[in-house]
Amino acid sequence: MGTELLDSHGRVARDLRVSLTDRCNLRCSYCMPAEGLDWLPTDDVLTDEEVVRLVRIGVERLGVREVRFTGGEPLLRRSLPEIVAACAALQPRPELSITTNALGLKRNAQTLADAGLDRVNVSLDTVRADTFATITRRERLHDVIDGLAAAKAAGLTPVKVNAVLLRGINDDQAPELLRWCLDQGYELRIIEQMPLDAQHDWSRAQMVTAEEILASLQSAFVLEPAVEPRGSAPAELWTVDGGPGTVGVIASVSRPFCGDCDRVRLTADGQVRNCLFAREESDLRAAMRSGVSDDDLVERWQRAMWTKRPGHGIDDLTFLQPSRPMSAIGG
Ligand code: SAM
Ligand code: SF4
Repeated sequence: MGTELLDSHGRVARDLRVSLTDRCNLRCSYCMPAEGLDWLPTDDVLTDEEVVRLVRIGVERLGVREVRFTGGEPLLRRSLPEIVAACAALQPRPELSITTNALGLKRNAQTLADAGLDRVNVSLDTVRADTFATITRRERLHDVIDGLAAAKAAGLTPVKVNAVLLRGINDDQAPELLRWCLDQGYELRIIEQMPLDAQHDWSRAQMVTAEEILASLQSAFVLEPAVEPRGSAPAELWTVDGGPGTVGVIASVSRPFCGDCDRVRLTADGQVRNCLFAREESDLRAAMRSGVSDDDLVERWQRAMWTKRPGHGIDDLTFLQPSRPMSAIGG
């Protein structure tokens, strides 16, 4: 095999998502139940050295160019700045980002920027305190807003905001959220809800579709495709009221982009997953702890990628939700 993370459909993974913990301090209803989940035992979670070893192999040996730390909530990993610094020292230096709920980011943003973090994606579904508490089951909207401001001040830009719309809860708030993001200089991306909740409550009929999201935004703004749509595919990135502000509408379910996928995931307990919806994992933690060489890890990782399926198949009758929820896989 070559020196890339190639699959049998010709796709090459260059974007590595690393979950640093499955724990979280919010309880977003589309992600986990109110009581939380059975967290991984500490010994099962990769140590900092193990995380950095796998990222190094990805970057130095397998063509990974972007590393995004996620979770659960990556800011709950106290050693995040040290992990970021170690990854920033790799050659070629990968682009480094986190996906975070931003609780505690106010305190950490500058430290993370100094350590070499390039960007943040913050998850925020509403700017109304009551709706925030309904969705996340915690009254912490002000912390997220402070965290976003700190990220911008620390130069972790462009600051992106990821939102999910839930029918009957915040599906009427897309224009308000976009207006707020434009005013603050954040780039909003609204993403279709996916069947990745621990409770298995997702239903296609309940999902707010990209088409509905666009219609809602277009009731308040003039949207034009920001980039030439490819073939018959509708645009995902739109300029708002003539620009320069943009908004993304990501139809991960209704119009999957699996054919262009360049992602690979590493769970907090060291399993390679070639897709969010994969049903198999490859255990690099056990391999590392049994003392295998870097060459051996390269080969295992490549083998795990090769079997990546062509698409997530959410619309197939045979679709089975992965046994692990998003928070355990790393969103
Ligand atoms: N805790 C961090 C956060 O919320 O940004 C990182 C992990 S979270 C699992 C990553 C992303 O997944 C978040 O943007 C969240 O909104 C999204 N997410 C979680 N469950 C989802 C679902 N069922 N469908 C779509 N997105 C989901
Ligand atoms: Fe936590 Fe992120 Fe899941 Fe919300 S989406 S419960 S912030 S892991």
